[in-house]
Amino acid sequence: MGERPQLVIVGAGFGCLFAAQRLADSPIDLTVIDRHNYHLFQPLLYQVATAGLSSAEIAWPVRSILRRQANAAVLLGEVSGIDTQAREVIVEGRRLRYDWLVLATGARHAYFGHDEWEKTAPGLKRIEDATDIRARVLTAFERAEAETDPEKRRGLLSFAVVGGGPTGVELAGALAELARRALSRDFRRIDPRGARIVLLEAGPRILPAFPEKLSAIAQRSLEKLGVEVRTGEAVTACDDSGVSVGEDRIAARTILWAAGVAASPAATWIGAEADRAGRIKVNPDLSVPWKQRIFAIGDTALVMQDSRPVPAVAPAAKQQGRYVAQVIDSAVRAKSAPPPFRYRDYGNLATIGRKFAVIDFGWIRLSGFTAWLLWCVAHIYYLIGVRNRIVVSIHWLWAYFTFQRGARLITAPRKD
Ligand SMILES: Cc1cc2nc3c(=O)[nH]c(=O)nc-3n(C[C@H](O)[C@H](O)[C@H](O)COP(=O)(O)OP(=O)(O)OC[C@H]3O[C@@H](n4cnc5c(N)ncnc54)[C@H](O)[C@@H]3O)c2cc1C
Repeated sequence: MGERPQLVIVGAGFGCLFAAQRLADSPIDLTVIDRHNYHLFQPLLYQVATAGLSSAEIAWPVRSILRRQANAAVLLGEVSGIDTQAREVIVEGRRLRYDWLVLATGARHAYFGHDEWEKTAPGLKRIEDATDIRARVLTAFERAEAETDPEKRRGLLSFAVVGGGPTGVELAGALAELARRALSRDFRRIDPRGARIVLLEAGPRILPAFPEKLSAIAQRSLEKLGVEVRTGEAVTACDDSGVSVGEDRIAARTILWAAGVAASPAATWIGAEADRAGRIKVNPDLSVPWKQRIFAIGDTALVMQDSRPVPAVAPAAKQQGRYVAQVIDSAVRAKSAPPPFRYRDYGNLATIGRKFAVIDFGWIRLSGFTAWLLWCVAHIYYLIGVRNRIVVSIHWLWAYFTFQRGARLITAPRKD
């Protein structure tokens, strides 16, 4: 690849792809490193976890995305450190030189100091998590069908979702529809419609990023689907038989974690200052203070705007990716740098079940079926690949009319 400046981007998430694609015509060569060979559309992971979609419909090979971009190479591997003195990225024993480095390694789930809960209460971040959760949920119904002890059967048919943000709300709604509709006629000894689904939120209301009115509408919509919503109490214990919330004990053999996130360990690789969640504190141009030519973007960066952190959402990562590409492009072309990064917030969306959503675009707030249609259009538009867009649209239409969920396969190793 000659003598052109070398840019390495670690992590092939939203931030990376928007940076890489924006640099297609830049006099620079770039290498994208990821531990997976695909880019994952995380906002639809909950649908894989609840058997609505298959993994391949929400992921796309990174090589394929960048195949037409002559200045971009892709390297599959897990990065374990950065040698900032030598300007090298350490990836599975190899060292890769960089002139410019962008860290876009995202986040993982966090258990507020109780990492031991992870075994019983898996979070949703990777495809493996989604297929593991799907296996746990479907296996619980299978075990309940075979169980003769009514107490144990009740535990197997009880599900607790911890965290009332969009992921928890979407998971709980989809679980309720799975139990009440898709599985309702498939068993002989149990009635899946009687499954208990409890959504637990420590804060005063679910969907705290939305206006109060929409939170209340979302809660009512979940309750209509049969989800019990409990707010204002934090989970204090989690084990194989259930969760403790305040003074109460909720028996549930399946617990799903949608409560906390922590940034990737990228800050420790470069010895950068980070906040409590591990996010790298960056300058207004997204560069890392005192680290020449190193930038951090997306969920792994703490970007302050108007004294508040920019939210860890896909549009923020994309805008940061595009911005950092502009900064690097200007530098290599010896042009003046762009003004400091500014996040443009287009609003929030969350869906509840197969035909209801809440939307807050600031200038317009919607709930119900129209909001759900908009939610569908937005998600299909942002999916990568025409095939995935068509397949997902067909799945959603099919699910809308038939209540069916086609991806009901137990493929992950059983955990019981
Ligand atoms: C379940 C779920 C639902 C969500 N729903 C929404 C939503 O509805 N709307 C919304 O806007 N946002 C949503 N988000 C948040 C959104 O997905 C993130 O904000 C966005 O993906 C962040 O992009 P990123 O580029 O920072 O990181 P990611 O997209 O997380 O990408 C990071 C990449 O880095 C790679 N990586 C990490 N560590 C290493 C390493 N050591 N070596 C090599 N590669 C590494 C990972 O494999 C991954 O590909 C959701 C997130 C989750 C988990």
